[in-house]
Amino acid sequence: MKIPPSISIGGQDVEIVIEKDLAEYGLFCLDDMRITLRSADADIMESTLRHEMMHAAFAIGGIAHCKPFEDMEEGAVRCLENIFFPAWERVVAKPKRKTKCTKNSSSQPITTVA
Ligand SMILES: [Zn+2]
Repeated sequence: MKIPPSISIGGQDVEIVIEKDLAEYGLFCLDDMRITLRSADADIMESTLRHEMMHAAFAIGGIAHCKPFEDMEEGAVRCLENIFFPAWERVVAKPKRKTKCTKNSSSQPITTVA
């Protein structure tokens, strides 16, 4: 996935900036409406963007400002990231291709993919 220059979330445009030497994997800043990502492999940047978009959703949606939630926001994001999304991706995953074994004229098995 190519990291877009901005995203829209909760009716807000959020700029995405990539920095080479960012100390963290990523940051979301509500005041600037900006997600900053550390330059890294595409898969890492994609998962970090999703992580920061969850922080953005909690902040823009207001729940991040609720006192009890502030202390557990990172845990909530990581729970969704590590538990919910992998489970969801298994639900919506395309079924694996079925492998069918047939024989050709020389009686050698041929593996075909349907
Ligand atoms: Zn986080």
